[in-house]
Amino acid sequence: MTNRQKLGWGLIGASDIAKTRMIEAINGQPDSSVVAVMSTSEERAKSYAAENGIPRYYASLDSLLADPDVDVVYISTTNERHKAEVTAAAKAGKHVLCEKPLALTMPDARDMLETCKQARVVLGTNHHLRNAVTHRTVRRLIKEGVIGKPLAARVFHAVYLPPRLQGWRLKKPEAGGGVILDITVHDADTLHFALDDDAVEVVALSEQQGLAQGALEDAVMGVIRFRSGLLAQFHDAFTIRHTHTGLEVHGTEGSLFGEDVMTQEPQGRLYLRKGEKREELDLGPHENLYAHQVRYFNAAVQGQGAPFATAEDGLRSLAVAMAVLESTKTGRRVGVQY
Ligand code: NDP
Repeated sequence: MTNRQKLGWGLIGASDIAKTRMIEAINGQPDSSVVAVMSTSEERAKSYAAENGIPRYYASLDSLLADPDVDVVYISTTNERHKAEVTAAAKAGKHVLCEKPLALTMPDARDMLETCKQARVVLGTNHHLRNAVTHRTVRRLIKEGVIGKPLAARVFHAVYLPPRLQGWRLKKPEAGGGVILDITVHDADTLHFALDDDAVEVVALSEQQGLAQGALEDAVMGVIRFRSGLLAQFHDAFTIRHTHTGLEVHGTEGSLFGEDVMTQEPQGRLYLRKGEKREELDLGPHENLYAHQVRYFNAAVQGQGAPFATAEDGLRSLAVAMAVLESTKTGRRVGVQY
C-alpha cells in the first residue's frame, strides 16, 4: 500500500456475489477500495467494470496480478478455479480472500494453505455467517456457560435457489456444484464457530428434488457428531420455497433458538429458553456480514489479528463437506479427515 491511502482490492471473477455483496463491502471500508476486476471474457470484464464503477479491467489473471495497485485479491470464480487462482495470487505476493469451498479436494486445499504460508500472504475464507451478530452471540453465550453443556444442535438451511443462480450449481459437478459444497460447508463453519468444537463423523442422505441434474444433489439431510459428543442435525436444500432458516443449540441448562439466521442479510432474532421461560435476547446492531468480514481482513493484511474466517476454517469446513458427500454416495458413516 506504499504511498496510497487505501488497500487496493482486485476481483478475480466477474461474479454475482461480488456484484451483490462484496464490492459494496470493500468500498464501504475507510481503508479499502476495488481497483480492478478480471474475467476470462474481455467483454464481460469491461461491462462488469463499467456497471460496478471499477476503474480497471483485465481479461487474464496474470495482467490483474501484475497490477501494482492490487494488494489483495478476492476470488469468487466457480470452485474448480480457486486453487490455481489462489496459487498464482500468492506467488505474485497478493493477499487472498477466497470463496468457499476453498477447493474441490482436501489435498488441493492443503496445498493452497501451504503456498500462502510460504509466500507470507494472508489467506482467508469467505464464510460470511460467523460474522453475523446472531452467531457471534450464540458463541459468546455458550462460552459464558449460559446453556450449560451443549448436547445437540439443529441447522435449518433449506432455501429456494434464486433463478439467476440456477446455473453451474445445478449442472456442473466439475465446477463444484451441488448443495453440499454450496451450503453444507457454511453449516459446518457456523457450527464449528458457534460451538468451538470439531466435527468428527457424519452420516447423510441426499436427493434430487427437481432442480439439480446429472450426479448433483439439490437437497441433503444429515447428522454430524462432534468431539464433545454433541450431535448436530442439518437440512440444506435449493428446493424449499416457504420456510425460514434457523440454528438451535440445546444445552443442559438452556436452549438457544436463532430464527432467520442462516442468511446473507444482517437480520434474525435469538431466543433463550429455560424451562417454560422464553426471552428474546438483545443483540445490539446488526452489521453487514460481508463488511464485518472485509474489516477484519483489511486489519489482518495490515498486521492486526487474523481474518474472521481463516484459511484453516475453510479447510475444516471443506473436510466436513467432503465427508458428507462421501456418506451420501456410500450410504455409510464417514469420519471427517482434516
Ligand atoms: P457466478 O456464476 O455469478 O460467477 C462465477 C463465474 O462464472 C464468474 O467468475 C464468471 O467467470 C462466470 N460467469 C458469470 N456470469 C457469466 C455469464 N453471464 N456467462 C458466462 N460466465 C459467467 O457465481 P456466484 O457469484 O454465484 O459464486 C461464485 C463463488 O462465490 C463460488 O465459489 C460460490 O461458492 C461463492 N459464493 C459465496 C457466497 C457467500 O455468501 N460466501 C454466496 C454466493 C456464492 P469470469 O470471471 O471468468 O467471467
